[in-house]
Amino acid sequence: MRDDAPLSQRADPAETATDPTDADTTGRPGRAAAVVVGGGLAGITSALALADAGLRVTLLEGRPRLGGLAFSFQRGNLSVDNGQHVYLRCCTAYQWFLDRIAATDLAPLQRRLDVPVLDVAASRGPRLGRLRRTALPVPLHLAQSLTTYPHLSLAERAKVGRAALALGRLDLTDPALDRQDFASWLARQGQSARAIEALWDLVGVATLNARAGDASLGLAAMVFKTGLLSAPGAADIGWAQVPLGDIHDTLARKALDAAGVRTELRTRVTSVARTPDSAPGSRSGNSLMKNGHWTVEVPGERIETDIVVLAVPQREAHALLPSGAVADPDRFLRIDTAPILNVHVQYDRTVLKRPFFAVLGSPVQWVFDRTRASGLTDGQYLALSQSAAQDEIDEPVAKLRARYLPELEKLLPAARDARVRDFFVTRERTATFAPTPGVGALRPGARTEAPGLYLAGAWTATGWPATMEGAVRSGTSAARAALTALGRPGGHLFEEAA
Ligand SMILES: Cc1cc2nc3c(=O)[nH]c(=O)nc-3n(C[C@H](O)[C@H](O)[C@H](O)COP(=O)(O)OP(=O)(O)OC[C@H]3O[C@@H](n4cnc5c(N)ncnc54)[C@H](O)[C@@H]3O)c2cc1C
Repeated sequence: MRDDAPLSQRADPAETATDPTDADTTGRPGRAAAVVVGGGLAGITSALALADAGLRVTLLEGRPRLGGLAFSFQRGNLSVDNGQHVYLRCCTAYQWFLDRIAATDLAPLQRRLDVPVLDVAASRGPRLGRLRRTALPVPLHLAQSLTTYPHLSLAERAKVGRAALALGRLDLTDPALDRQDFASWLARQGQSARAIEALWDLVGVATLNARAGDASLGLAAMVFKTGLLSAPGAADIGWAQVPLGDIHDTLARKALDAAGVRTELRTRVTSVARTPDSAPGSRSGNSLMKNGHWTVEVPGERIETDIVVLAVPQREAHALLPSGAVADPDRFLRIDTAPILNVHVQYDRTVLKRPFFAVLGSPVQWVFDRTRASGLTDGQYLALSQSAAQDEIDEPVAKLRARYLPELEKLLPAARDARVRDFFVTRERTATFAPTPGVGALRPGARTEAPGLYLAGAWTATGWPATMEGAVRSGTSAARAALTALGRPGGHLFEEAA
């Protein structure tokens, strides 16, 4: 069957495997049906989880690929990621996801946290420090690294230690934390501007996509507590050694196909509506669905279903939500977004020997060697990940080139003699939701007021900032809520360790 055939004419791989003991609420014999809207990590996770529980699942994605905000594209001989993505060992849901789609080996974790931090503004010339952990228990695992971190004075290091312990005592369930900004709290803990720049923002900007002054204390505390204080290895870093698309598109699609999910790309959903049943008692489905079913509309097609998971960003969710489905849906529009810029440079030779490093005293934030992952066989390809990039996201390429190439020459002496074969940028203006103070109160849970309608996406109330981990957790939460309402166990789902 052609890929562009209307949905109604396409073979449904799940159709042959109906369970005669069950019935969907649209009156057809067979399993309960679910439509997942959005093929980012949240939607893929929901679709897999629901299919694994035995539902007939259709996944609808507007773009020609899966993976949402974490994808790859081809540029000449390079496979380019739209943005460098990393995860931490504490991201257990994302690791569950990698395992579920057979991709664990493609995005390995460091054996032990080790982040080289190069300060190029140091008075005595460029200086390299390391943020490393030992095998000691929390919080001693970072003590050695902190006491030798050269980018802070002795007094600043002592105060950082005290602030870290105070952070560990914060109660993450206290909603008051979300209303405060992280910078004010750090200032109250005696943190200097330098300590914020050289340590708290070094980590916080990359994980929260905001500087401390613009970040909710609740989200910041969650990141630092979970990443640095929950277990010795929690902050060990992992990242894809292949193009992100190999994982989030190719392998995810393979897993979805194997699970019997019907995946439709280039299929943008235009409306989601609840249709009351004409003869209520006639359905043999469970009580959840007795008084209606859902109709999901895509161009030229209407799909009837029992369950809908809206796994799209907040603005799209707001546009698709039927009225009355959530209290104050306009609050979704008050969840702002924040940009990430990636600067890509291809050199004719190797200029960097490390897999990555972080930078102080320069507009450059984090530099990753993407040579092997991109398929490049000679020369070197570096990706600079620039978070909280509000000031630069719309700057012309020529201006960014004039700024970043000389900076790279300062950081990497070998770059001074190298020829730049290619320079380009990728701009993600809505890379993440903005983790501003107060955002927690705006993020919705998976359940809505409408029976059978669920929300997923990194922007929903996961407790995490906008991350792959948050996206996967939200997808699991939506699937779990749907299965619970259907009276089905969700034992196969990712479960957070107690
Ligand atoms: C440059 C960049 C760097 C990042 N770095 C990191 C990192 O290092 N670590 C990390 O953990 N996270 C990182 N993130 C964040 C992470 O990528 C996202 O939080 C996560 O991918 C969001 O997944 P999602 O499924 O919630 O949403 P999305 O990825 O936004 O997926 C939503 C999907 O819905 C589709 N859609 C929308 N409307 C419709 C419709 N009407 N019909 C059908 N489909 C529709 C969209 O096309 C999209 O594919 C980064 C993001 C960016 C952009």
